[in-house]
Amino acid sequence: MAAEISPTAFVEKVSDPRFEKKPALLSKIEASGQEVNCARFLPTDDGVITVGDDKFVKIWVKKENGQYWPALSHPMPEIPTCVLMNGETKRLLVGQSNGTIAEFRVKSDYRSLKLMRTYLAHQASVTNVMLCLDREWVFSTSRDKYFQVHCSETGRRLGGYQCNGTCTSLAYDDRSCYAFVGDFSGAIHVVKCDLDSSGNSAKGVILVTIIRGHTGCVQSLAWDPEKKYLYSGSADQSVIIWDIGGQKGTAFELHGHSLFLRDCCVLFFNHSSCSIFTCDQKLRISLWRNCRQRVMSVYFVPTTPALLLSSGDDAMVAVWDADTKRSETPEWRESNNCELCGKAFFWNVTALVSGGDLALRRQHHCRACGRAICSECSPNLAPRPKLGFEFPVRVCSACWESDPPESTRSGPMTRFFDSKQHVLAIDVDLARRRILTLGQDRIVKLWDLSVFLDGHRGAQQQALSR
Ligand SMILES: [Zn+2]
Ligand SMILES: [Zn+2]
Repeated sequence: MAAEISPTAFVEKVSDPRFEKKPALLSKIEASGQEVNCARFLPTDDGVITVGDDKFVKIWVKKENGQYWPALSHPMPEIPTCVLMNGETKRLLVGQSNGTIAEFRVKSDYRSLKLMRTYLAHQASVTNVMLCLDREWVFSTSRDKYFQVHCSETGRRLGGYQCNGTCTSLAYDDRSCYAFVGDFSGAIHVVKCDLDSSGNSAKGVILVTIIRGHTGCVQSLAWDPEKKYLYSGSADQSVIIWDIGGQKGTAFELHGHSLFLRDCCVLFFNHSSCSIFTCDQKLRISLWRNCRQRVMSVYFVPTTPALLLSSGDDAMVAVWDADTKRSETPEWRESNNCELCGKAFFWNVTALVSGGDLALRRQHHCRACGRAICSECSPNLAPRPKLGFEFPVRVCSACWESDPPESTRSGPMTRFFDSKQHVLAIDVDLARRRILTLGQDRIVKLWDLSVFLDGHRGAQQQALSR
């Protein structure tokens, strides 16, 4: 079922409401002359941490003139690949290219670091590091295909799990102790961390299921603890939303992925359209063909209503309305005649000859109702945001008349802004209403997110995930 109409060109139009809101560019940080591997907001104060191929950990704080300057440039023995700072304990975890994780204590003026411990966690470059403060667990993933858990009090390894390929992304649910590990092949491994720092009763890191849907590397994962949605952004140019909790909240109990997936509702996004359906491989593949570029980063913003940010190689930052209920797209119907005017399609030779009408009529499909129709009965293209079509798609005359775009459109459900850089990573400072984009151009840009947060509650609260 190949899509016949490619979405309109991804160009910024003055009149297009999807591009109307433009966040102000607050600051630019030229972080390094070499590759920048990770950039994050400081958890409490106004500043940014960057690490890169120049083997430095840098902490940028805001000066009185509004510019950011490096309060700290700390040399590392190896290339730092990822970084995480905890605001409460001032702990800074730095994953490195040789597989180790260095844990520092940051001085309150950000001018010096004190090395507390080195975890010999992996055999190859560390790709993600995460801290579960309540349980004193340090999570990490690596190119060595392992997900590892260490105790941050003793430095001891508590457990681990080996994936099929390079582990590229990581998310964690505090309540259920489930970790989600995305790998290079496109699989997401769901593992339960049954770990105990002292006792012997723990079972270790146990595989619950593997969810497959992406055909390319899972670049980024984000977790919504309320709805129990997992968001995955992939090099296959799509964002998939996995309803991990299931509609009855039972999917967690099911083991084995065929059962799991049957209860799993998939909300599919890409940068040109979005659809919700229940695991229809065929549809998903046809939608993939419409996409443009790799999705490198997804970020869940826990406001009410919630937002999902995604970006990647196309330089567009998409701001999805994550709470609005989207409808399932209709099945495409098959017919020998147009379901509106009744005229025969070209393969229906008997009807063509007997009717004396030899026009070569191709079959098309209305994206809103799924009817098989001829081109004369579907002269219009219209966006259908509720169905996930943010960009105009073919609709039949009946649907066009019953629901003309001007009358029902309350506004787009997704907005885009152009970051003018190939985005590698996104971070959000909700307390200051800002988003950070790290580009391949080694520049960190800080944007004012306020235009997207109008009417959103909880925007003053610090993001839960840091
Ligand atoms: Zn027709
Ligand atoms: Zn229709």
